[in-house]
Amino acid sequence: MTVLPYACRGFHYNNYKYYLEDRFGERVQRLSIEGNFTCPNRDGSLGTGGCIYCNNRSFSPPYSNKQRAISEQISEGIHFLRQRYRVNKFIAYFQNHTNTYGPLSKLEKLYRKALDHPQVIGLAVSTRPDCIEDDVLALLRDISKNFDVNLELGIESLYEHSLQWMNRCHTVETTRIALERASKYNLDVTGHFILGLPSETRDEMMAMATILNDLPLKFIKLHHLQVIKETDLAELYEKQTFPVFTYQEYLEFIALFITQLRPDLILQRVITSSPAAYVIAPIWPQTTTAFIMDLQKYMRENKMYQGDRYSK
Ligand code: SF4
Repeated sequence: MTVLPYACRGFHYNNYKYYLEDRFGERVQRLSIEGNFTCPNRDGSLGTGGCIYCNNRSFSPPYSNKQRAISEQISEGIHFLRQRYRVNKFIAYFQNHTNTYGPLSKLEKLYRKALDHPQVIGLAVSTRPDCIEDDVLALLRDISKNFDVNLELGIESLYEHSLQWMNRCHTVETTRIALERASKYNLDVTGHFILGLPSETRDEMMAMATILNDLPLKFIKLHHLQVIKETDLAELYEKQTFPVFTYQEYLEFIALFITQLRPDLILQRVITSSPAAYVIAPIWPQTTTAFIMDLQKYMRENKMYQGDRYSK
């Protein structure tokens, strides 16, 4: 049977939460920080419209506010998360926009400011594959000598036609180059993927599991496509509705997808959870927690495990 080191407490796949617990001896929570960045797909360098699905406001927690200093956001975030989850260790997560898009001096100042807080034990930096220069990677490697560092790349799809459809303004080759470059700096990299794009068939989506197994990734984040208000995707959806995953379809799809993944990959997410007020489709009555529990149950009942269908 496949060995899954972080598949504890009923999970049939490696769960990031247990990876962190194992590494730090206690629960660790990510804390979103707004670094006041933009992105080349918005500021005119590559385009102004942004990716078709993007509305950064839909994934900003209340304490993450670009008007506030980093130290204030950290203190408020810790206060909020401690009450909610009773945790003492945190990872500062630069999530919105492209968090490596700026002069190195600005990046270093922001990252180090976030790490100044004694309860912050790590840094997670989300970015685009075309925005990671060697000097940033060297900085992150330097920081990783004393802190947990996670570079999160918005890969989204491994199909050229989908990247074009999403208006990502980068190619699959750009992603491959970025991953090769990051691996030279021994960084722990997350690949972020969206499943359910109308530009892909279900077979193409499923086949992406096999393709991503060959990439130098330690973590993956899987999201189902959501149509979010105030996006180009919302306009498109209004003009001509396209099929989106139903709750049960996604649950069964993701379970099968997970069985095809390399057994050493660690899953940071299997579902997205934008605030209900922003979501146009799909609208599922169940919470994220309910989904995770239903997924566990479904995988358990069907004897499905991460890596079951993986072959080199
Ligand atoms: S998803 Fe990221 S890269 Fe795309 S427009 Fe939004 S911030 Fe920019």
